[in-house]
Amino acid sequence: MSAILPSPPSGGSRLAIIGDIHGWYGAHDPAALTALQADITCIVGDIGEENLDLVTLISELPVPKAVILGNHDGWQHAKSNLGKEFRDRSMPQAPTKEEIREFYKGVVNQLDVLGRDHVGFGAKHFPAQRLSVVGARPCSWGGERWKLGAGVSADLYGVRDMAESAARIQHHICSQPAGTTVVVMGHNGPTGLGQLRHNICGVDWQDSQGDNGDPDLRRALDGARQRGVTVPLVIFGHMHHQLSRRRGRPQALRNMAHVDSETGTVCLNAAVVPRWRQIGTSLQNHFTVADLEDGVVTFAAHVWVEIAKKGGSAMHAAPASVDRARESCCKKVLSCLLRATSVKQLLEEIQAEAPPEVTVDGVIQQPTRVPAIVKHAEFRRE
Ligand SMILES: [Zn+2]
Repeated sequence: MSAILPSPPSGGSRLAIIGDIHGWYGAHDPAALTALQADITCIVGDIGEENLDLVTLISELPVPKAVILGNHDGWQHAKSNLGKEFRDRSMPQAPTKEEIREFYKGVVNQLDVLGRDHVGFGAKHFPAQRLSVVGARPCSWGGERWKLGAGVSADLYGVRDMAESAARIQHHICSQPAGTTVVVMGHNGPTGLGQLRHNICGVDWQDSQGDNGDPDLRRALDGARQRGVTVPLVIFGHMHHQLSRRRGRPQALRNMAHVDSETGTVCLNAAVVPRWRQIGTSLQNHFTVADLEDGVVTFAAHVWVEIAKKGGSAMHAAPASVDRARESCCKKVLSCLLRATSVKQLLEEIQAEAPPEVTVDGVIQQPTRVPAIVKHAEFRRE
C-alpha cells in the first residue's frame, strides 16, 4: 500500500509518535518531523539502554514534545526497590533523597535531562493545541506483575502498587483544563485489548498467549470515563510489531491499532522495530502519525519517511531545508501501513488486513544506529 500523507487538519492537531527507538535516532529526525507537519512529537520509551547521551539528544529536539521512559530505559534497577531493601534489613530509617538519587542515577539522570517533557505519572499541557498528554506508568514491562519496574515507581514516584498507579494516572486524566483534549501515552498499552499473541498488547514470547497490557492504565481509563472524561487516543510501544518466531513459528505481525467500538478510543502501538529500513536505495525512518479534530481521532497511519539515499551525499545529513524535507515526505512516503479518514474507516481497515511485512534488502549500512556508548557530538545536527 502506498499513499500520500494528507495535510494536518486545520484547527486540529497532528501528533508524530516515535516508537521504541532502541538506538535508532539520527540527525535527520528533526527534519522528518517538520516534513510530517507534526504539532507535537511523542516518544514512547525504550530509547536506549539508559543511554544518557541519546536521551540528551532527544531532549534537545527543537519541537513541542512529550516523552515517557520504557523498561529498557530503567533496566538496571528494574527488580530492585531501595525502600524495600531498607525495610528488609530492618533499618529504621527510609533512604535519603541522596541515596535514592545515587541508587537510581541511571534513570534519574535521564529524568533530569528530560525535565517537564517527561510525562510519566504526570502530564504536559500544550495550550496552542488545547491538548494534554498524560503519562502512564514509566518504565513499564507490561502485565500484571507489579515487581517488574516497581522500584522506579515506588522510590522515585511514591507509587507502591497497581491501584495507586491507576489512581495517579486517572487523577491526571481528570484534572486537565476544561476544553482540553486528553491523549494518554504509556510505554505499554492498557489491558483489555485482546488475549491473542497478535493482539496489540498480546503475549507472543511464550507458548501460552495472553494479555500483556498494563492493568493500571486500563483501570485509569475506565475510571476517568466513569467521571465523564473519555480519552480519544492512547499511544504506546513496547510490544514490537514483529512477533516472536519461537518454536519455528512463521513470521507474523502484530495488529498495531485498536479502536474501541463503544467509546471510540483509538489505541496505537508505535513499536515498529527497528524503526528504519531500506527500500532499494531509499533509507527510511518510521513514524506513527495521528490527527485529532475536536477531540476525535480523524486519521492515523504508520508512515515511512525517506531520510536519505544510500550512497548519496545526504546519507548522514538532515535534508537541506524544510521544503526539501516536505517534498521528500510528500513524494516519497512510500508506505502507509494503515490509513483512514475516520475512526469508522480505521476500524474497518484494521479488521480487513494486517500491515504488510517490512522488508529490508540485504545487508546494508546502519546510518542511524546510535551505539550504546556514543560520542554526543557525532549525532548533533549540523
Ligand atoms: Zn519496552
